Amino acid sequence: MHVRVESGPLDVLQWPVIGSFLRWRHARTAIQLVLLSAALVVVLDGLLSARIDPTNLATVLTWVHYRGLLVIALLAAGNLFCTGCPFVLVRDAGRRIRPPWLSFPRWLRTKWIGIALFVAVLFSYELFDLWALPRATGYLVLAYFASALVVDLIFSGANFCKYLCPIGQFNFVASTMSPLELRVKDVGTCHSCRTVDCIKGRRAPEAPTVVLQRGCELRLFLPSKVGNMDCTLCLDCVHACPHDNIALAARVPGAELADSRRRSGIGRFSRRSDIAALAVIFTFASLLNAFGMIAPVRGIEAWMSNVMGVTSEAPILAALFIVALVVLPVLLLGGAVASLVFAPPYAESAYEFTSYGYRSQEIYGFAYRSLKRRMGLLGLDIPPADELMPGPIDTDAPMAAPEAAPTAA
Ligand code: SF4
Ligand code: SF4
Repeated sequence: MHVRVESGPLDVLQWPVIGSFLRWRHARTAIQLVLLSAALVVVLDGLLSARIDPTNLATVLTWVHYRGLLVIALLAAGNLFCTGCPFVLVRDAGRRIRPPWLSFPRWLRTKWIGIALFVAVLFSYELFDLWALPRATGYLVLAYFASALVVDLIFSGANFCKYLCPIGQFNFVASTMSPLELRVKDVGTCHSCRTVDCIKGRRAPEAPTVVLQRGCELRLFLPSKVGNMDCTLCLDCVHACPHDNIALAARVPGAELADSRRRSGIGRFSRRSDIAALAVIFTFASLLNAFGMIAPVRGIEAWMSNVMGVTSEAPILAALFIVALVVLPVLLLGGAVASLVFAPPYAESAYEFTSYGYRSQEIYGFAYRSLKRRMGLLGLDIPPADELMPGPIDTDAPMAAPEAAPTAA
């Protein structure tokens, strides 16, 4: 008997218009052509414009609209910008002329270079005010095209996407918070599947060197794929599966971050220090980027300039980056470790005490009782819990308060 995987009531691939479009074999190319046109506009407009102009089309498209739409798409649906990545379209065209002949070195198969490039782009953005430099923006886009082309013309697979591309690394981490993911519908079908086309691809029977449909270039094997990390949403697996066994299903955003299962093409999150570092850099770099846009940062830079005795912005910015991306995360992680070490004796499990892994009933119960107590102080009564709260509340096991908790034996 086949085991049905819980993929929720929603499979976007079965939707009338959007689903039909996504299942169309050339859907990705169509989206890529749109983004390729936008990239060409940015490059041409950037290279032909004044050196400094924050209102220019190239700068506004790249640094305002693209970044905003990227985040909205990631939070509303998923990694749609990797789906439509124009660098991959150009790379694919190049591979028709010159197929890659090497496999990517094993020791480079980590996120560390991608993290370094991500920080370098962010640092350059802040140091040179890239948002105001059309030509530099145009050259940066060209550099992306050239890098993807060179790397993937030499090495087979999608190594530029998986390990090197700074935008890709950003998208991979952000897509862990997306509401959709590609997963198999029926694990039993995969168990009896002889061809595993979703990873191997489909080849012409009479000419095995001719690839009719690519399998997953990111080395994610669908039956053991967990979450969105490293998935470019290219849909190659969907087109390759001969059993129509893959859904673009709804899921709880972010839940995969707490999933300790072994992931195809990734391993366990808990053993991937590079992915942990990427997530930390992603979080703190986002805060730093937002911090760089507010007025007080100018005052802080002026103060640091005085203290450090320098006038150039580079060392000041470097110091800010070190504080934001290294010192603060280390302090917070130190605090987390300390909370485990110094958990009070009445806590049965230090991990449970310091995590927020409470059931929703406990959280609703805590929230309801807190609200009732506060309103009670004002002499107001609140409606019963079943009218007010979005779900049942836990009345039997209130959150332990230190004074109410049993003392350790
Ligand atoms: S090709 Fe389809 S059925 Fe076969 S293993 Fe992949 S997802 Fe499962
Ligand atoms: S699992 Fe692989 S083939 Fe399928 S969409 Fe993601 S990256 Fe593409």
